[in-house]
Amino acid sequence: DDSSNTKNIPMDRKESPVVRGVSDTVVGVLGGGQLGKMLCQAASRMAVKVMVLDPLADCPAGSVAFRHVVGSFDDGDTVESFAKRCGVLTVEIEHVDAVTLERLERQGVDCQPKASTIQIIQASFFPSILYDKYLQKLHFSQHGIPLADFMQVDDIESVKKAGDMFGYPLMIKSKKLAYDGRGNAVAHSQEEIPSAVSALGGYGRGLYVEKWAPFVKELSVIVARGRDNSMSCYPVVETIHKDNICHIVEAPANVTEKVKNLSIDIAKKAVDSLEGAGVFAVELFLTSDGQVLLNEVAPRPHNSGHHTIESCYTSQYEQHVRAVLGLPLGDPSMKVPAAIMYNILGEDEGEPGFYLANQLMKRALSIPGASIHWYGKPVTPRVAIIMGSDSDLPVMKDAAIVLDSFGVPYEVSIV
Ligand code: ATP
Ligand code: MG
Ligand code: MG
Repeated sequence: DDSSNTKNIPMDRKESPVVRGVSDTVVGVLGGGQLGKMLCQAASRMAVKVMVLDPLADCPAGSVAFRHVVGSFDDGDTVESFAKRCGVLTVEIEHVDAVTLERLERQGVDCQPKASTIQIIQASFFPSILYDKYLQKLHFSQHGIPLADFMQVDDIESVKKAGDMFGYPLMIKSKKLAYDGRGNAVAHSQEEIPSAVSALGGYGRGLYVEKWAPFVKELSVIVARGRDNSMSCYPVVETIHKDNICHIVEAPANVTEKVKNLSIDIAKKAVDSLEGAGVFAVELFLTSDGQVLLNEVAPRPHNSGHHTIESCYTSQYEQHVRAVLGLPLGDPSMKVPAAIMYNILGEDEGEPGFYLANQLMKRALSIPGASIHWYGKPVTPRVAIIMGSDSDLPVMKDAAIVLDSFGVPYEVSIV
């Protein structure tokens, strides 16, 4: 009798379509860099299929994605045909064609986070596109989020005026093409304005200036938001940059509870002003008088959250997948008291760089509790080393030893 096996199964279960895994929805990701790679790795554990769109045939995510479509994420037609093959569309880079995203969204494509969020955040590659990084500044200031004072500038007179108002050093930023600090130039005095402006490609590129944020630490908070609008925050971390690239991350940040709470409040408020599901990284400045200012937001997983792969119950990558699919959010808390991420930035391209990175990785592998993540960038070697420990002091001491052997003086500053 056939029915005997199924008679105790509730009707809704019997009639539900079979889902092979936690979700049948194919997640489409614009961009196939290291963030996309780590996202694919997390998704694969849950049998979630991730398709990535990236122009590089040997992009980092290519080898681990369910499918890699070779194509440009800033080309409207390519993004459109890619989107039609996916159940939900998300990003691992914000410099995508946001105009197309908005159009696709109107046609019913499920973009998470929403196209409006990408538009507010992006520093577009395209001169023809209206959206840029200055819009992000305007947006957050209109939402009452504390920022360094800023002002749009169109000519030398307006920069001088800003310098008189904000003082020096003065941070000059390009509205577009801004990542890894490539859109930033500092004028230490009025005399340096012309050289800083020309380093950014001139006024025609679209510039604004920011008052110098006299920070004692840079902090980052990753906030996850589910499709039901539930929010969940990762512990506040400290980020240390080298040549404008995130180099060392200490988790948790060695700051007071008050600063942690303030940072989380600002991060949540910033994310609350944006639409859609996913993880968002909120970059912050901590000043000597205990003020916290927002620097910028990345609407996606972030380098400051690599450590979560090893140190948290649910990594930022798994959390992003859960969020965009509408699955329950996981626990963002740390399962070790402290962790550190050290990013080897291959200064040398090609063989010498790869040789050095290889030697450093082997050294890192000899440290108990250390994990390595090879980004898989085709030209420039990059690797993240993540260390966690049973107590915060040993991990910081181990980190100090490793970093010292890498020629990076690193002080153990845990109290
Ligand atoms: P990312 O790769 O993080 O997207 P980006 O090119 O968008 O970088 P920002 O994050 O705006 O650049 O700035 C890079 C770094 O420059 C910051 O992490 C900080 O160290 C420094 N910086 C930026 N703005 C200011 C400021 N107003 N005052 C002082 N330092 C600043
Ligand atoms: Mg940026
Ligand atoms: Mg930044």
